[in-house]
Amino acid sequence: MSNKYRILIVEDENNIQTFISALLEANGYQAITANTCYQAEMLYGSYLPDLIILDLGLPDKDGSELISKLRENDSVPIIVLSARSKETDKVNALDLGANDYITKPFGSAELLARVRSVLRNSRHNELGRLPNAKFIVGDLLIDYEARQIFVKDEEIKLTQTEYNIIAFLSEHSGKMMTYATIIKAIWGGCADESSIKKLQVNMANIRKKFGAKPGEDYYITNELGVGYRMNEKPD
Ligand code: CA
Repeated sequence: MSNKYRILIVEDENNIQTFISALLEANGYQAITANTCYQAEMLYGSYLPDLIILDLGLPDKDGSELISKLRENDSVPIIVLSARSKETDKVNALDLGANDYITKPFGSAELLARVRSVLRNSRHNELGRLPNAKFIVGDLLIDYEARQIFVKDEEIKLTQTEYNIIAFLSEHSGKMMTYATIIKAIWGGCADESSIKKLQVNMANIRKKFGAKPGEDYYITNELGVGYRMNEKPD
């Protein structure tokens, strides 16, 4: 048995499938390919891959159906590949349990970065929340027990809500969290215009307190119309 990471690529467009497969193999991963949802399910059962790269537009079913099915009892990381630029498709896939998405066309560097990040975070999150657990990335430190956040050893004074948002994002670091998921976790209830506004105001204040310059991804990436992702490493 090889100890390489196994990645299942589910994509019906041959040139894209070949491109991703060759790219992953060249970078030390083992690639397995499927053209349909049906094939993907078969291969998933026999290979138990460490990660799935999933196109949404497949000939037999929509890829989102596979996400729902897998998420019934499986936390295998899933990166969705979508030609569609519609926000609703991405949000839907994320809400069903996908970890991240990439919009076609994409470059090799971008794909490899997402793959590394998702694999690293799924390992990180498996360790779970131990007592006295701390989240440390670059010069950011979160002390969950003390409910304190430090940047470059200096405490950042956050409100309770701001702290709760950051703690929640860090517990799911590397995963794009949709507005609806964050709002449900922090305030309960659903994402309407006013709760999204409230979230955005909180995020703007957090960024300011973190010292982020406008347009800069400082630990947290904002995908407009989709959600927020805490990055394991600042981009
Ligand atoms: Ca397709």
